[in-house]
Order: sequence, then structure tokens, then C-alpha cells
Amino acid sequence: ARGLTRAFSIRAGIFAPRRTLHAVNGVDLSIRKGEVLGIVGESGCGKSTLARMLLGLTPPSSGSIALDGQDIRAMGRRAMARRVQPVFQDPYSSLNPRRGIASIVALPLEVHGIGTAAERRARAIAMLDRVGLPARYADNTPGQLSGGQRQRVAIARALVMNPEIVICDEPTSALDVSVQAQILNLLMDLRREFGLTYVFISHNLAVVEHIATQVAVMYLGRVVEQAETATLFGQPRHPYTQALLASVLTPEPGLGIPDTGLGLAFPDPLNPPPGCPFHPRCAQRLPECASRAPVLAQGPLGKVACHLHPPGAAGLSDAGRSAS
Ligand code: SF4
Ligand code: MG
Repeated sequence: ARGLTRAFSIRAGIFAPRRTLHAVNGVDLSIRKGEVLGIVGESGCGKSTLARMLLGLTPPSSGSIALDGQDIRAMGRRAMARRVQPVFQDPYSSLNPRRGIASIVALPLEVHGIGTAAERRARAIAMLDRVGLPARYADNTPGQLSGGQRQRVAIARALVMNPEIVICDEPTSALDVSVQAQILNLLMDLRREFGLTYVFISHNLAVVEHIATQVAVMYLGRVVEQAETATLFGQPRHPYTQALLASVLTPEPGLGIPDTGLGLAFPDPLNPPPGCPFHPRCAQRLPECASRAPVLAQGPLGKVACHLHPPGAAGLSDAGRSAS
């Protein structure tokens, strides 16, 4: 994805002026085949809008998305659906309550005119079996299943098309912790077996650390840091990433993680702060942070958008840190 931006025109009331919400603002992301790109951030940071754009469901206001170098707008929705499939948080709303689950899983094949009815049903049943729902469940309706089983149906429906990329938006957030682990392990097994690439969107850092190979941290529609998972969790550089990690880790004095005051209210996305959008909540802010926006720049440990890590000096400051 290059320069991906999605702006919505929003009116707070009939007499209120229209304002522009940049839900996703100039996002550049790339993902290599077979990787799991985790996207984390608080709710309202633009994660779900980004997911819908990556699926071709929401057109970007500007910027572009390419798959193997081909712009997805030129591919068309049908061709996209064969290569990129979603798994959303609450599959219940998207599973037809009157259909049996084999018929639900076979539907994308039917829509794309793949196989005969008998072949489609056989393929759906085989895929359901693969995700842990044996044939005896084939004619159960979604309402007869648990939340975890419904998520397995949604995964089977996504995979029955043989996609290359699966966009998972909070796929386990609605589930109990024990069921979450089962679904995550299933997703990881399926990735190996089918050579899948995942974009995995979550506000749950522990889940992302478990499953992702690369992590991008979003704040107010922008990517503020992107790095290999171990690097991001071991040596977070952006003060927002540090604050996110500190909010779930036991605070350890001397670890160098400052109190960034994340308790401060999330800013109004319609009226984002000038300069660095994180500056009102940042304990490490510099005088220029309120007026000058940092750009996402490649450093030795990944990309970061913060004046504490200027592009030219990134190597020096990182070297300084590891030596201290
Ligand atoms: Fe904090 Fe400034 Fe870095 Fe923004 S640019 S995260 S305000 S230090
Ligand atoms: Mg969301």
C-alpha cells in the first residue's frame, strides 16, 4: 500500500459544518509473501478502515494498493476476492442464520461459479473438517454453534476460495481467552499448510506478539512505527509504542519506559493535534513536536515516525542506546 488515505466527510449535526476525518492518513505498508503483518493501535486509530481498504471494500480517497505490483482497482472485485479474503471479529452478523454451515462455506464458490453443487458441498465439508468442524456439523445453522465454532466457519469460508492473503480484523476479540488460543493456533497451522499471508489487526498486543512476524503501530490514522515483532516488543522506539507496551506490562522501574500519560483522553480524530499527533500525550516531546510532524523513516531497527529518531541520526541514537 502506498500513501493510503481515506477521508470521510462528517457532519456532527444538521447545522454543523462538514469536517474531514482522515481515518487513514498517508499509510505506506508492504508485506512479503508468507508473513504475518500485525497492525495494532487503540480503537479509532483507523485499523478497521485500513482493513476494508486492503479488502477493496472501501476505496481509498488517495493512494493505491498493489498486489504483486498490480493495482487492485485494475483487478476488479471478483479477482480480488479470489486472492484476498477477510475474517472479521463477529462472524455471526455475516453468517446467514437460516443456512447450514456447509452451504455458507460453499457460497463463495457458487458466487464465483466454481464446480458443481456436489463438488462445492464436498469442498466446503472438507474445509470445515480441516478447521475442526467434522461432517456431522455440516447442516447445523450458525445459531446452533458456539462463538469459537462460528469463527471456524468464517475461517473455512475465507479459505475455501484458496486465497493468498487473509485480512483478519480482531478475529479472536469476541472469544473467551481459551478459545482465542485455539483459533490463533488454528490460524497459524493453516498459514503453514496453505502458505498464507496474513494481515492481523488487533488491539491485543499479546495476541499480535504471538502470531505476527512484523508489526505496524497505528496512531490517529498513521503508522508511527513498524518493525520485526521481536524488535518492536524488545526495543520499542516510538513513545506511543512504549506506552502501549507499558500499559500491558508490569511497570518496571529502571526499564526506561516513561509514564506517557496514556490515561489522557484519546484526541478527537476530527481535530487531530498539529505537529506530531501524539504530542499532547507524549512525555518525551521536544519543543518542535507541537508544530512539526515527523515522517516515518527507515532506521536500523525498522521504521519510526518521531523526532527523537531523526532519519539521519537513527543509527547513532540506536547505537547510543544499546551501549548505555
Ligand atoms: Fe513524542 Fe515528539 Fe516523538 Fe511525537 S515526535 S512521539 S511528540 S518525541
Ligand atoms: Mg476496529
